[in-house]
Amino acid sequence: MSYLVLARKWRPKTFSEVVGQDHVVKALQNSLINDSAHQAFLFTGTRGVGKTSLARILTKALNCENLVDGEPCNECDSCLSINNNSSIDFQEIDAASRRGISETKELLETIPYMPSSSKFKVYLIDEVHMLTKESFNSLLKTLEEPPPHVIFMFATTEFSQIPATILSRCLQLNLNSVTTEDLRKQLSLIYSKEKVKCEDSALTLISDAANGSIRDALTISEKIISFSERNITSSVVREVLGIPDDELIQGILKNLKDKNSEELFKILDEINNDSSIKSIFINLMELIKNISLTQFSNIKKDSFDPSLLEIDPGILQIFYQLCLVNIEYIDDFPDPKGLLEMTLLKMLAFDFEEKKNLIFDEMPNEFDWPRLLNELKLSKVFSQHLMQSNAFINQKDFILSLPQEKKVLINDKNIKDLELKLRSMLSVKDLKVIVNTNYDVLDSPMNIKEENQKKNNEIIEEKISSSKSYKKLVSELNPKIKKFDNS
Ligand SMILES: [Zn+2]
Repeated sequence: MSYLVLARKWRPKTFSEVVGQDHVVKALQNSLINDSAHQAFLFTGTRGVGKTSLARILTKALNCENLVDGEPCNECDSCLSINNNSSIDFQEIDAASRRGISETKELLETIPYMPSSSKFKVYLIDEVHMLTKESFNSLLKTLEEPPPHVIFMFATTEFSQIPATILSRCLQLNLNSVTTEDLRKQLSLIYSKEKVKCEDSALTLISDAANGSIRDALTISEKIISFSERNITSSVVREVLGIPDDELIQGILKNLKDKNSEELFKILDEINNDSSIKSIFINLMELIKNISLTQFSNIKKDSFDPSLLEIDPGILQIFYQLCLVNIEYIDDFPDPKGLLEMTLLKMLAFDFEEKKNLIFDEMPNEFDWPRLLNELKLSKVFSQHLMQSNAFINQKDFILSLPQEKKVLINDKNIKDLELKLRSMLSVKDLKVIVNTNYDVLDSPMNIKEENQKKNNEIIEEKISSSKSYKKLVSELNPKIKKFDNS
């Protein structure tokens, strides 16, 4: 059994067979029943959610000789010719491979000709966002005044790349990612008809792995069915998809909790498949999330070792954060296992008292610029210049405001140095330093220092002038006491 067979066999042929897109199906069937005259449709949504399948069903419905309640019959010549890909009035074009202006023109030249045997000629352009600007422009001219016998259907995963002029001429239909529950139901139905046995937990694993895509669910199923000899167990699914075992994930967290590095690295030694590292991160985060939810709500979501509940909720947050920060790199990182090891080492080295070292995703809002400047240990001259600056934080921008005469004295190397030190000090990895002269520098470290000095002097002066000995001196000798100046 090949992938093509299963996917083709279970491709929906009627609107009622479409999984998880009720809102779109309803809108389309209503427009068919009411005979509303849309001549361009745009199907958007992530990969494998059924965009082109829906376009094909719509094409059949528009041309069907026996349409009943907005459903194509799948028995008339028109329906059959589309089902077996022999209709000459239905053209499916992959814009990824035919994106150029000459190909688009070639296509548009066929538009004036009447359909050979159907009511409408339908052009389905998949991945339409791939068309060049020139192609879109020439298409637009036709879309502005399409001949009544022509209907366009576009499908795209990249809605934002479609020009607004095109969008405004289409009935836009946004397909959802298919929910895990809908995928489960559909797979369960298909398996029973295909006489494939499947454990309930295995069904959940496959539905989760499909990530909202019905096509992926079928591709994965195909692979697993052939591997499992039609008897799908969760251990087969884990093996084929590289999904780590629950015990392994819990073992990692348990050893982190017990600070047992020896056992932790024994577990890591057993992992020899780089492709499973991302799943380990994801599953570890999932477990951390479930433990946290249980700690706060007492609703136990999944089964896990109750001793894991003893982990400090704050530490769990930090573990989660560390996973989140590092998983970002995993797809491009040459040594995924090394990345996992380093992440776990960081967790292992973590102490409750060190919670303050938490890696922030967002910049801390409040900070003490004079103190931070002091701790940055920048070069002496640069530090001196910065004494007259002011600093603000706006998301990941560190905005440094200086008087113009100081700004010109600062070079790129200074800024780079400052940027690197701030990133490390504030734990914001993509922090950017922006220098300007826009803000007043009244709160500069130098002014604050001077202000503090002035205050100190005033306090001293106040103390002296209110002291008995001073008063005595004044009264006895009436000397001219020189006031403290601020220098
Ligand atoms: Zn029909």
